[in-house]
Amino acid sequence: MGPAALAEIVGRGNRDGARLFREWFEDLGRAAVDGRGGAYVFVMGSLGELLRVFDLPLVFPEINSLQTAVRHVAQEYLNEAEDLGYSSDLCGYVKADVATQRRGGELPMGRIPPPKIAVLTNACNTYVKWAEIWERMYRMPCYVLDVPGTRADGTQTWRGNRDFENDRRYVAAQIRELIALLEQVTGKKFDIDRLRESLQNANRLGRGWKRVLELNRSRPSLFNALSDGTIYLGVCNGFRGAPEGAVYFEQLVEEMELKQREGIGTLVDERFRLVFVGVPCYPIFRRFTELFTEHGGTFVNSTYLWFASGGANRAFEYDLADPVESLAEGLLVSVRDAMDSMFYPTTALAEMVETYAVDGVVFHPIKSCRTVSTGLADNRRALMERCSVSTLFVESDMMDQRVVSEAQLKNRIDAFFEGLVSRRLAPAGGAGAGR
Ligand code: SF4
Repeated sequence: MGPAALAEIVGRGNRDGARLFREWFEDLGRAAVDGRGGAYVFVMGSLGELLRVFDLPLVFPEINSLQTAVRHVAQEYLNEAEDLGYSSDLCGYVKADVATQRRGGELPMGRIPPPKIAVLTNACNTYVKWAEIWERMYRMPCYVLDVPGTRADGTQTWRGNRDFENDRRYVAAQIRELIALLEQVTGKKFDIDRLRESLQNANRLGRGWKRVLELNRSRPSLFNALSDGTIYLGVCNGFRGAPEGAVYFEQLVEEMELKQREGIGTLVDERFRLVFVGVPCYPIFRRFTELFTEHGGTFVNSTYLWFASGGANRAFEYDLADPVESLAEGLLVSVRDAMDSMFYPTTALAEMVETYAVDGVVFHPIKSCRTVSTGLADNRRALMERCSVSTLFVESDMMDQRVVSEAQLKNRIDAFFEGLVSRRLAPAGGAGAGR
């Protein structure tokens, strides 16, 4: 392949991701100007596949809020909500969204329409209380879809199991109820063939996402799961069920396979392969990543790319012959997987350490997301009992600059890498091989 063709493909995922993101916001801006409401949804079980069938613009308040942090304006939004009485230790995404709504949907990336309906799952308890705020503000309907979760690591059940079949029927009944509500809210008749198209697009996207994640087992790794991965994740959520999402992930697979063949890694001279657990530090997002890459540390995978994609990493294949029942099964499998990635990550992490040849696992609990952060200390201990891998436990926040201390983070991260270096230099089983 010539250098021009190579230059066109390498980096395309990041360029196209940014373009799709801009286009998505332009669409939302038009919906806001035209007075069309959107469907407010969350990353863990968005049901984008179904909502597209009713031509509802998709608004992801979590993604909008994190963008305020990445663009360094989150504090203004947080302060505004705190002045209204929202507590400083609440989920920062909620507070940024409250301020966004009070500003008529104005965000640094554009303007979002108000909600016509909100659809949420029980994957995070904050979702339910958050949607109640919109209910009070806009008096619009909210549909809470209850997805039965597992109760312990490794207790996931599958098709054919009696409990699983009961749970699937329970989710399917809720989806049928939601379809009736969507018909009422939009005044549009449900079109099962459009759902089939949407599920087919989601199948293509899911296959691509799974493959992209697997391809990062390459050495050197092909993308940084923290920085590049977050761009891919945005497309995975925002374009699930859309043809653009399907094409994007097929092209991303092409890009990653090309990079693998040509031995092209990230811009970092990879010395240590890392896995990230938790939610990123968005207020200093670029710098946070640099604190690792400066030492030659690259993130080859993360639990974030699993739970924040709503379990799309599972690549559940919808059966187009039976779309509604299959959507229920896919939602059950994927949202359960997302919840397990947050609550019981040990088995998956131990496997990742093995298959991705990982040197270190970084646990990043954050002040304002209890759902993800509670239990991370136990998860870390459990992982260290299961496998011999270095770990770092470092705290900050995803939104709130006031609790992000770059100097403290740097000290801890520098010490972590010193440990990794001595561990590598030490004879196997000798001094320095500890964690
Ligand atoms: S508490 Fe955590 S998982 Fe829940 S909405 Fe906030 S950031 Fe998302």
